[in-house]
Amino acid sequence: MTTLRASVAVPRPVRRLFTYAIPPALAPRCRPGVRVVVPFGRRKLTGYLLDLLEGDAPGSAPGSLRPIEQVLDPEPVLDASILEVARFAADYYIASLGEMIRCALPGMKARIHRVVSVTPRGRRTLEEGGGVLVDASLPRIASDPRAREILGVVAEFTSESGAAIRLDDLRRRVGPRFSTRTLGRLRAEGYLEVAEIAGTPGPRPRLEEEAVLIAGGSGGANPRGSRRRRILDRLREAGGRRAVAGLLRDAGASRREMIALQRMGLIALASREALRRPASLDLPVQAPETLTPTPGQRAAIDAIEGALATRSFARFLLHGVTGSGKTEVYLRAIETVIRGGRKALYLVPEIGLTPLLARRMRSRFGEVLGLLHSGLSDGERYDEWRRIRDGRVEVVLGARSAVFAPLPDLGLVVVDEEHDTSYKQDEHPRYNGRDLAIMRAKMSRAVVVLGSATPSMETYVQARRGRYRILTLPGRIGAAGLPPVDRVDMRREFEEAGRESVLSRRLLSALEERLRRGEQSLVLLNRRGFSTFVLCRSCGEAIQCRNCSIPMTWHLRLRRLRCHYCDDTRAEPAACPACASAHLHYGGTGTERLETVLNTLLPGARVRRLDKDTARGRGSVEEVLTRVERGEIDILLGTQMIAKGHDFPNVTLVGVLAADALLGLPDFRAGERAFQLLAQVAGRSGRGEREGEVIVQAYYADHHAIRFACEHDFPGFAARELAYRRAMNYPPYASLATIVVKDRAFDRARAQADEVGRILRGGAGRSLQVLGPAPAPLERLRGEYRVQLLVKAAERRELREALDRMLRELERRKVRTEGIAIDVDPMTTL
Ligand code: ADP
Ligand code: ZN
Ligand code: ZN
Repeated sequence: MTTLRASVAVPRPVRRLFTYAIPPALAPRCRPGVRVVVPFGRRKLTGYLLDLLEGDAPGSAPGSLRPIEQVLDPEPVLDASILEVARFAADYYIASLGEMIRCALPGMKARIHRVVSVTPRGRRTLEEGGGVLVDASLPRIASDPRAREILGVVAEFTSESGAAIRLDDLRRRVGPRFSTRTLGRLRAEGYLEVAEIAGTPGPRPRLEEEAVLIAGGSGGANPRGSRRRRILDRLREAGGRRAVAGLLRDAGASRREMIALQRMGLIALASREALRRPASLDLPVQAPETLTPTPGQRAAIDAIEGALATRSFARFLLHGVTGSGKTEVYLRAIETVIRGGRKALYLVPEIGLTPLLARRMRSRFGEVLGLLHSGLSDGERYDEWRRIRDGRVEVVLGARSAVFAPLPDLGLVVVDEEHDTSYKQDEHPRYNGRDLAIMRAKMSRAVVVLGSATPSMETYVQARRGRYRILTLPGRIGAAGLPPVDRVDMRREFEEAGRESVLSRRLLSALEERLRRGEQSLVLLNRRGFSTFVLCRSCGEAIQCRNCSIPMTWHLRLRRLRCHYCDDTRAEPAACPACASAHLHYGGTGTERLETVLNTLLPGARVRRLDKDTARGRGSVEEVLTRVERGEIDILLGTQMIAKGHDFPNVTLVGVLAADALLGLPDFRAGERAFQLLAQVAGRSGRGEREGEVIVQAYYADHHAIRFACEHDFPGFAARELAYRRAMNYPPYASLATIVVKDRAFDRARAQADEVGRILRGGAGRSLQVLGPAPAPLERLRGEYRVQLLVKAAERRELREALDRMLRELERRKVRTEGIAIDVDPMTTL
């Protein structure tokens, strides 16, 4: 029997698969695991072919199905183990399988173009009116010069070329007068047609031309011309083959001379694949370090190696303060697993951590290191992905999405800084890379090691219940212990100094001292921009984003206000948008202002800022961190980007500004996050031979998170925090999901949220608790109102079933669910 249909997962927020017809011409290439281009509504998408379906479609003639339009891969790209992880994840997070698979194949999608063409009606109208729209039935559009212009441009282009014009070309040709709305009207009223066509299938192997010396071909025959001879010399030096571009450059020769050599039979030209390499795989490596493990490290390594030897699933929590040598434990375990013929996955929370770590790992493991993170270009990522899949990589270093790395024979998974919220994807599908890593290890019968100085409350509680083996590294490596932390009460500072200042006298003199001693400092301020708010002195309102219920931040270099949630900007206000008063106050200090303050107070210091604004270009984070490491920067200031994981032995001072602001908006994890960040950043100080010091400034420094962090007291913090979580029935004592209903109209969001709440409460099981609906703390975001429900249950299964039932009920009622965002195990409830 011939197979005529296939089930396809599409990267849209829908929880089911779709069936497409397989045109006979594509049948041989339609295999499970290939990417396909399929029509979806009026659009075209890259989907993933999961199964070939035999027999007739139940209840529908084969002819009624829409066809697969293109097969993108000659070989399947989705293997069974990755698909298994994606299926588990889609199920667990109540998310779309197609979207989850897209996370597993990042960057690998067809480029789809929109094209515009004129309909017969549009053309008639143009001709009759001599290029002017004169359709009496549609006076509004006829009198719209923009509509006439768009139609005219499309008609002109298509009559020249006979083809439809690409939307981006149309935009360019029409210029600033282009309007999407007008285009939409022309389409709705039948003058224009907009379609989508698939262009290229996304990243492909890059080929380069290579010159190959023909053995014996030269036979002593020396070609005339010094350039030709230089080509041959360079080629010999390179061992007989070399990429043409570099060869000609070095030889100072041109293509003509090379072709001549080819005709003489001295060289051949061939094409071969040139892998695109991430820049951080090309940082110069040093000789591998040979560290003798401390007794604590030895014990941890032994325990992990013991588990690796059994080749079965085991989980460890490696708990050690910052600078206790956790990395060395990971690297040893990776070595062991590679020696045993299996492969390792090493996850870090931030791509900023990968360059220096990659360098260290390359000095140890060589070319078998692969990288996967969103800082790579699509091409680089695709090439790394294939190197991994083809078994040419023994260990993958990457961020969240690397949990889907197509590594065969996985033996070990390391999740460093397991508590970090960056492991959670903050757009759907909202999966947690750490938790999937554990699941993936389980599926592969691998060992998983979670490491942290400040474990998440979830992991900590599980470990204490015996689900993890706890490995403890008791203290810091080397002579210096954890740095003492001083708190500076900025209220007292204001009274004593008699003025408002960004830096306390204590911190300023500590910075000066470091400059004198040639040591380095880090200053953390977790707010970007120059002024963190602009306040009207007349009406007291802070200028808010048009789209979000959030004050906008003033950026001096940009000379604009910017919203840090939706990135929208607005010009420097001349007056208060609410009351037109001209008395505006620029308040609050962000990193941009701090940078100028430091430059003014400490002239001659080499100050660099690292935050999302300075890190926009590719490679800029690497550059800054490398320069700190080389001692070319005295003071590195920035947001939490500077806090994580780096190991700079010459940093002996860490300053934290506005520590109380870390507690931020009301959220059940605010205390935990503040504690973690403070412990992290404090841990950057005094990692070398010299003692470190930490100075924490705050107006309100009595919060338990700040207090315990300053005392380096994780157990103390955990006891206090867990008591609060238990009292409030929050994770880890309950399974939690948030449901946010979004709509441009508040009333509609509210009504739908009410409906969702009723359905959930209607079928509530024993321990299910539904809170809300109520406006979310971030009531408006990107132009949409947000109404929130919190759903808690003692049993995870009960929570999942309740959410499942609710969605099925909405589907049954044919309610549109695009505006409903479910977040299972949320990192925030904002
Ligand atoms: P962590 O990851 O726990 O914060 P690191 O692994 O970065 O700590 O180690 C901190 C420092 O101690 C690094 O500079 C590292 O090279 C050094 N180190 C680690 N283990 C040893 C050891 N056994 N002997 C000497 N130095 C070590
Ligand atoms: Zn005002
Ligand atoms: Zn905004």
